[in-house]
Amino acid sequence: MTVKTQRAYNFNAGPSALPISVLEKAQAELIDFRGTGMSVMELSHRSSTYEEVHNQAINSLKELLSIPDQYEVLFLQGGASLQFSMIPMNFLKPGKKAGYVMTGSWSEKAFAEAKLFGDVYQAASAKDGNYRNIPTVSELKFHPEDAYLHLTSNNTIYGTQWADFPDTGDVPLVADMSSDILSRPIDVSKFALIYAGAQKNLGPSGVTVVIIRKDFLEQANTNIPTMLKYSTHAKNNSLYNTPPTFGIYMLGEVLNWVREFGGLSAIAEQNENKANLIYHTIETSNGFYIGHAAPDSHSLMNITFNLKSKELEKKFLEQAKQEGFVGVNGHRSIGGCRVSAYNAVPFETCKAFSEFMGVFQKKNS
Ligand code: PMP
Repeated sequence: MTVKTQRAYNFNAGPSALPISVLEKAQAELIDFRGTGMSVMELSHRSSTYEEVHNQAINSLKELLSIPDQYEVLFLQGGASLQFSMIPMNFLKPGKKAGYVMTGSWSEKAFAEAKLFGDVYQAASAKDGNYRNIPTVSELKFHPEDAYLHLTSNNTIYGTQWADFPDTGDVPLVADMSSDILSRPIDVSKFALIYAGAQKNLGPSGVTVVIIRKDFLEQANTNIPTMLKYSTHAKNNSLYNTPPTFGIYMLGEVLNWVREFGGLSAIAEQNENKANLIYHTIETSNGFYIGHAAPDSHSLMNITFNLKSKELEKKFLEQAKQEGFVGVNGHRSIGGCRVSAYNAVPFETCKAFSEFMGVFQKKNS
């Protein structure tokens, strides 16, 4: 059997590229983790060796995101999708409403799920404009007595991203950051709760990170199943039941990689450079490539665009695949093209792709 060591140009939307150094470290430690004679997957989640891995991952996330002391970091399961239900289950109460800012398919899913539990409304919606833009702060309509306001910081499918977050005063702000957490510095203190599936910027799928302010947590409903209460996991340091130990180990290693990279400012700078390469190619293509997102709302993580005709788009996607670019197809719900340039996608991969775009345009104009 020949071993393929060539790394793919991986633009998958999630699960997505992981840093090669993290994969190599996991490979080296797979059979014998820190002299235990076992892999991390084989350790008891109650052992001190695993506990160290677990706590280091929590502490690294706190450090990298500058998470203030009044927040808990939780590692849950069920993906970001389970958060769509856990949030209203825990925080919607009779007589209180929650606003949802509609910026794409994931906001729609979060909203639909919350409707099952209580009184929710759309605080703003970009649907009429085919989710090309992020609503402005003045377009947001919410009430000071609301249970919370929910937004999606980066819209993985449409390729839009909040540049700045609204100041919601006393209304707890809840954000789905699945596809841009750790891609740039953020002010955690603006949020009551942040959640993210790990499989884009944080590690492999199977872990969901929740960052929750303690005073918000204390207001949660109590008449819900034990596993679906944030307090259960907060009280038990996310060790109430068996956590996804290998995923948390990988998350910890990804966080070490981010630290070695220079932290979130350095990561953000590289993300801007990568995305700008491709946006520049789109913008200077004289309409050959048509960007989906409005320029003031475009995402640095997911770059979405179309070509003039479906036939040309098909040819483009086929050739991209032949050249070794993986995951360039748009999400199955909207089609088109999408480049997901998460943290671990190297600058060179984006450079190679923007060059391919240029060559394809020349040959097909
Ligand atoms: N929210 C956003 C913004 C996403 O991109 C995704 C997955 N692509 C989800 C939620 C759902 O995440 P999961 O598959 O972890 O449930």
